[in-house]
Amino acid sequence: MTPSAQSPSAEQNDALATTQSSRLAALPYLAVAVVFGLLVDAQLGDSFFLGLSLTLTAVVIAGLVSLRQFISQRELLGVHRELSAAHAELAALATTDPLTGLPNHRALVSAIDRELARSTRYDRGCGLLFFDIDHFKELNDGCGHAAGDSALGELGALVNRTLRSTDTLGRWGGEEFVVVLPEVDADGAMMIAERVRLTIAAHLFGVAGGAHLTVSVGVAAYPRDGCTRSELLDAADRAMYAAKWLGRNQTFSAADPVVTSIDSSNGGVSEPDERAMMEAVDALAMLVDARDKGTSEHSLHVARMAQRVALALDRTPEQAREVYLAAKLHDIGKVAVADAILHKTGRLTPEEWRSMRKHPTIGADVVARIGRLADLAPIIRSHQERYDGSGYPEGLTGEQIPLEARIIGAADAFDAMTSDRPYRKRMAVDDARAELRRCAGTQFDPDVVAAVESVLEQEFAAHAA
Ligand code: GH3
Ligand code: MG
Ligand code: MG
Repeated sequence: MTPSAQSPSAEQNDALATTQSSRLAALPYLAVAVVFGLLVDAQLGDSFFLGLSLTLTAVVIAGLVSLRQFISQRELLGVHRELSAAHAELAALATTDPLTGLPNHRALVSAIDRELARSTRYDRGCGLLFFDIDHFKELNDGCGHAAGDSALGELGALVNRTLRSTDTLGRWGGEEFVVVLPEVDADGAMMIAERVRLTIAAHLFGVAGGAHLTVSVGVAAYPRDGCTRSELLDAADRAMYAAKWLGRNQTFSAADPVVTSIDSSNGGVSEPDERAMMEAVDALAMLVDARDKGTSEHSLHVARMAQRVALALDRTPEQAREVYLAAKLHDIGKVAVADAILHKTGRLTPEEWRSMRKHPTIGADVVARIGRLADLAPIIRSHQERYDGSGYPEGLTGEQIPLEARIIGAADAFDAMTSDRPYRKRMAVDDARAELRRCAGTQFDPDVVAAVESVLEQEFAAHAA
């Protein structure tokens, strides 16, 4: 037996209640009609008291009707208010990303269009940032989707705190975010992008007992990189892709020549191959850093600096990328050096030195066995050579040392000087810079030192912003 056969359904109850309430609401009006009918009847007759009492009753009923009208009006107003609130709530739901509470894709599209219309009308600049979390899949796979979700929310709130109230940060989709920056020119947008990137990189996310995340950021500006929404989004997306391709955790402007050259030169690399290769490099670099605890993230720091120096020395994006990869793996041969030597704080004996000096050759031999990375082997073999020939393993001089290796040599020394070691405290950046300059022409290639300095200056300008 169905429940409706037993008792009235909710709809039937509602319909019944509505009919009863409209009958009740009609009662005063019915009463007025009846009383006025009687009044007319009494006027036609000549009963004074009947006429008076009917008149009084009519007045009372007219009052009741007015009261009823007033109450109905109030009820209507209440219903109207509820409808407006529900409408606003629906509108917010349609434009808010439920996971992060940020404006969603649709709201971002409107925000970009609105700001571009304003920029065109008042002839003002407008910046657009497009950023994507690096290796986010690893966090999801390693710590679960819930941890990923919570990190997305935390990241949104963190970035929002670094922006002005007039900027709009929204979730474009997945782990991609867009920021609309009204009245900001290309340089300003670049500075804000760097601030966002550094804030995220420095933050300890409250997932999985504390995790670090980085983002790759692309920057586009109206009118320099485009005048329409799709032109600007395309430009920012291309710049973001370049930042990923050149090693992640960095910001690129759409106007950077590197971005355009990557666009045209990167057609042949298929995504899965690319990813597999990057993952292999990251895994090996992690192995070296984990082995040598005092230098956690050392490989990454050297790689980022080396890549920037290569670009400053007018290397092509592909060459800069090779430098990046070689730098990430430059210490791989240390895996074969005994702990007692690797972690020794005192002076190494001649025998220990002999063992230590083998690491570039071992590293090169390891890398030479991985088809796609084999080209990095000569760079890794020579990264401990010195410009004046006093390095190892072969004592090469000047241009005999591959430029990529000279770059990594300087970047490696700079990072070693500016990081704490078990046996000494880190040097100030200015002191490390002076030390590089002092050794230009002996230990380091002077052109490479000049390029390191220009990169440091750019970074200083970005941090000061
Ligand atoms: P890359 O540095 O190249 O950007 O690497 P990636 O791992 O971040 O990129 P990929 O595109 O391979 O993976 C994106 C990941 O983002 C995979 C997907 O599970 C995750 N993701 C997207 N949306 C959400 C979400 O709403 N919640 C969670 N937890 N994860 C999400
Ligand atoms: Mg990603
Ligand atoms: Mg993505």
